[in-house]
Parts: sequence; structure tokens; C-alpha cells
Amino acid sequence: MMITPSPTTAPALCPDLENLLPPQRESLLRGLAGQLRVATRAADQNLGHLEEQLLRGGQELFRQMLEQAAQEKAAAAPPQCPHCQNKLRRLTEGHGTTIQTRWGNIRVRRARGYCRRCKRWRFPADALLGLPDQGTQSPGVQEIAALTVSKMPAPEAEQVVERLTGVKISAGTLARAARVQGQRAEEKRQRLDAHMSTPAGRDQQDGDLQLQLPLDPFTLVIELDAWNIRERDEHWGRSAALRAQGQEPARWHWAYGGTCFRLNQRAQTAGGRPVILSRGTVMTRGGVDALKEQLWAEAMRRGLGRANEVLIVADGAVWIWNLTGDRFPGARQRVDFYHVSQHLWAVAHTLHPDDEAAARTWVEPLLAKLKADASCQVITELEQLQARLEGAAQARVQKEVNYLHSQRARMDYGTAKQKGEPLGSGAMESTCRQYQARFKRTGQFWSQTGDEALMCLETFRRNGRWHLLFPHAQPPDPSKN
Ligand SMILES: [Zn+2]
Repeated sequence: MMITPSPTTAPALCPDLENLLPPQRESLLRGLAGQLRVATRAADQNLGHLEEQLLRGGQELFRQMLEQAAQEKAAAAPPQCPHCQNKLRRLTEGHGTTIQTRWGNIRVRRARGYCRRCKRWRFPADALLGLPDQGTQSPGVQEIAALTVSKMPAPEAEQVVERLTGVKISAGTLARAARVQGQRAEEKRQRLDAHMSTPAGRDQQDGDLQLQLPLDPFTLVIELDAWNIRERDEHWGRSAALRAQGQEPARWHWAYGGTCFRLNQRAQTAGGRPVILSRGTVMTRGGVDALKEQLWAEAMRRGLGRANEVLIVADGAVWIWNLTGDRFPGARQRVDFYHVSQHLWAVAHTLHPDDEAAARTWVEPLLAKLKADASCQVITELEQLQARLEGAAQARVQKEVNYLHSQRARMDYGTAKQKGEPLGSGAMESTCRQYQARFKRTGQFWSQTGDEALMCLETFRRNGRWHLLFPHAQPPDPSKN
């Protein structure tokens, strides 16, 4: 027997909850249901139309609920300075402000008082609500700005945000908000990094960052690379004048990056593509010194202090090996295999400038020897070859012999294969390419502060630390580290 529930009125809400519901909820919900009804009956509308109706139609309902809840939260803020906790003086109520949220603008009234210690007027509710010192964006909108503008130019972000949330936030607002969040991320990174060099700082691994290190011995791999970026700099707008003086405006600047991971966190996808299950990345426009400090702190988080051994893999750039000797003394060093092979190919093309097949026939046995840890043999062969050459060809081969000599100790590719270690710095190079996809678009110019801030946001997200900037966001699952 079917029991049909008798139509009853909904139980009365306790007054406490009642306050959080908008007074016109009945009419808002009925309006929404009406729109859904139309869409369900329209033959040319699908589930997407229903989703759209709820997104657009639910906006006002949620906006009103948010406004009410925010008002209650603001009213509960203690009359203290949010910066120094000093009791505020000359407190007055009812100072209105408009806050941009992901459901549109809300109005909140809150108290204002004077902090004698900071010598400033304060709105304690603003800190409690998570509003920035400058600007009126809610934490949700701050996050939306940070996430989209670190991925795409602000005018595109404006369109994407409007399409996905139904709320229009101007490109200018998104760009400004993203920059503020990026600068906040930089400050946070600096604090985390400085903390890492203190004994208590090591707890970062087990606390906020949710990184868990294994008890078994492990090899920590660090890969480094650099790329260049176009910026608005001191020469901006003076290119013609500079060129007239015979100077070339310096507009391309270097971004330096590094990544660290435990060797046993390298794996393969079902399709055979190599992946790294968990790793820490740093990327900076602040020069090699900034990279050095950031990379050391990140390596510490990833187990530098407990690693059995450290392996540095990179291309042949001199700054890398200087940094390595300085910050990671005792680490094994490996020069990227592809990079070395390019030097051998240069010789091959010198010997066989117009015959690619002959060049390949010449180079392949040498590459095989490199892979079998026989770099000394390769160098000897090149030296013998060089003795038989003259002129430009001899100079060219000499140059490559010198290069190979300088890197001899870093070409242990046979050992690498045996131990399942990376032969090259491909993981970091592909990371650099991903950053470039955002920061190196045609016709796009950046300022150093602007790109460092946005890059820092991108790095926080990659490293699973987004929740440290936006506590309302879910932290990553620690079991995935
Ligand atoms: Zn104060």
C-alpha cells in the first residue's frame, strides 16, 4: 500500500534561521520555478537551458541571502583594531559599503572606530569579512580575479567570468584585484620561505602545506631552467630615440624557474607519458638570487634535509652550476642529454652541411656512447677528428670539445638509465612552456612587479597552496602528495 503524505505546511523555521532568508523568497522561488517550467516544456531547450535558468534566476535569491549573512557577520565584529587588536575609540555605527560578490553587489553597514596605536580609522567588520584594505571585492571575487587573470589577459577574463558566473566584473577591476592578490601571494611566499630557514619552519611540511615525507631513503631531484619575457621597462616609449643613439632597448628579461620532486614520484600515465605525482615549483622574475632562496626553501619542503642524495638536472647554463655549488653543495649534477646532443649535432652539421642522412649516421654512434656512460670516448674521438681538420671546421669542433670537457662529469646517462633517473630537465622545460603560454603572448607587455605578482599566484596554485591565499577554497588532498 502506498502512503501518500498528507499536504502539510512546512515546519516553521526558528527565528534565528528565518533572519537569513530573504523576505521575498516565496516570490523569488516561484519566479525561478516558472522559468524552469517554461524551459522544461520548450522542445528546443535542453538541460543547458535549465542550468542557465537556475544560474541567472538564482542570482538574486543568493545575493539577498549573502547580504543578510554578511550583515550579521559584520555586526558581530568586536570593536578592536584588526591590525593591532587595540580597542577602537570614537566608535560609530552604520557606515555603509558596497561589496562586489559573485552574486552581484551587496550593501553592508558596519562600525568605524579610531585606533590610537595605528593612528588610523578602522572598520573591524571588513577584516572579519575578508575585504581587502583597498577595493571592495569579496574574497570570492578576489579569488575569481586571481585565478582568471593569472591564466588569461584581463579582457578575456571579463568575458569568461561573466559567462560562468553571470556577474559582470570589468577587466580593469579584475586586473587590479589580481595584482593585489598577487602581491599578497608574494608576501606570503616570502614569509613561508623565511620561516623555512628556522627550525620551527620545518613544520610547514606537516602543517599548512600538507606535504608528507616518507621515512624510507629517497633521492630529491631538482631541475632548473630559464626563459625570457617581454616587459614595459624604463625604455618604454623611447625605442626610436634609443635606436637613433645606436642602442637597442632592453625589453626581454629573464624568468628563472626550478622544480623539485622525489625520484620515486616519477610515474607513467596509462598512455606511457611520464608524469610527476607531486612536486614543488618556483618561478621568479627577481633574478638568480631570488630563485636561489625560493628554490632552497621549496627543496626543504620537499625533503632536502632528509634526502639520501640530491640530483640537479639542467642545461649547461653557467648560472645554474654556480647556484648549485652555492645552495646545494654535494649534489650530483647532470647536464640535460638533449642539450649535449645538440652540441654533437652541431659537429655533425659542420662535417656534413648538406647531407642530413650522413650527419645522422655520424652522430648516432656517438649519442649511443654518451648513453652508455662513455663520454670520455666521445671526447677522444672528437679530439682525433679535430686534429685532422683545419680552419673554421677545426675551430667549431674545438669549441664543442671544450664544451664537452667542461661538462664531462655531468654526462652520466648510463647511470641515469640504470637508476631510473631523468636524463634531462624536460619536466622543468615543460613547466616553463606552460608559464610562457600565459606570460609571453604576442603584443603583450608586462611590468616586472605585475608579472612577478601574477606568476606568484600561478605558482601557489600549482604547488597546491591556493587555500593559503583563499582559506574558503578546499586544501588539496594530502594523500596525493
Ligand atoms: Zn591598530
